[in-house]
Amino acid sequence: MDSHTVMYGVFGDPVRHSKSPVMMNRAFKETGLNAAYAAFHILPGTLQAAVQGIRALGFRGVNVTIPHKEEVMLYLDEIDEGARQIGAVNTIVNEQGKLIGYNTDGIGYVRSLKEETGFAVNNKNILMLGAGGAARGVVHALAKERPARIWIANRTPERARQLAMEMSHLADIEGIAMTEVARVAEQADLIVNNTPLGMHPNVNETPLDASLIGPHMVVSDLVYNPLITRFLREASAAGARIHGGLGMFVYQGAYAFEYWTGIPAPIRAMREAVEESFALHAG
Ligand code: NAP
Repeated sequence: MDSHTVMYGVFGDPVRHSKSPVMMNRAFKETGLNAAYAAFHILPGTLQAAVQGIRALGFRGVNVTIPHKEEVMLYLDEIDEGARQIGAVNTIVNEQGKLIGYNTDGIGYVRSLKEETGFAVNNKNILMLGAGGAARGVVHALAKERPARIWIANRTPERARQLAMEMSHLADIEGIAMTEVARVAEQADLIVNNTPLGMHPNVNETPLDASLIGPHMVVSDLVYNPLITRFLREASAAGARIHGGLGMFVYQGAYAFEYWTGIPAPIRAMREAVEESFALHAG
């Protein structure tokens, strides 16, 4: 670092577990950019001041994570149309003092799905499990790719219906209760877990009865700790093609990198940095 170093960071609470700094600093190193990325623990009530700090200190970009993705929208100068429809911002670009908010979670998910499994969304049936913050971005991005139909199943069915209604201008989407999945699962070409079920330390949990999974399906999990969840293990045993959550994390960061720098993200190095960091902490 020197007096020309361009600064970046992630705002979250908690934030010390974040793999974004190791991933992004590896991306800067790999592309030879004089830039640095750190994690900032932004406590409740201090987000507005932190956002003003982006302008005052001349940071080029910031990622925003839980629990600030919605509130941060109040403090930005412009919000990308996709992020507005999703209702959350995870990436801020500082254009000479003008702060623009984007959401790269959903598009990161779809790019990862396509590049890692070859799945084409067009004309396919999709079953989404969960209707929380992450599901909003993923449903939005999938709905824009002309699927035949999306079912959103959620423990709290009103939330699934609400999300389906908000995205209904993009595709044929129905919100259902989690207890209704058996009715539709067989017709699904892609099943996505958007719930935290199966995430460390609750690794024995799973969002779906494995008997509903067939060999014609792609089965995808947003959870990436562990890299292979019980849901994915059972799907693989049922003959389905599986897709883990690490790719979504890497590609949401790749899109942010590309918005900030205008150059292609070094995807392989970014993924490697996160995998190494997991291995280090596991050992
Ligand atoms: P969230 O906003 O809290 O939503 C959680 C969702 O899971 C809701 O639909 C909730 O249902 C459901 N749920 C929670 N506990 C459940 C249970 N015991 N049984 C059934 N349903 C349950 O969380 P989020 O931010 O969307 O994150 C969801 C998951 O995605 C997390 O595991 C997170 O790690 C992962 N994620 C991964 C990435 C990535 O880059 N790979 C990015 C973002 C998130 P109700 O509505 O009924 O409460």
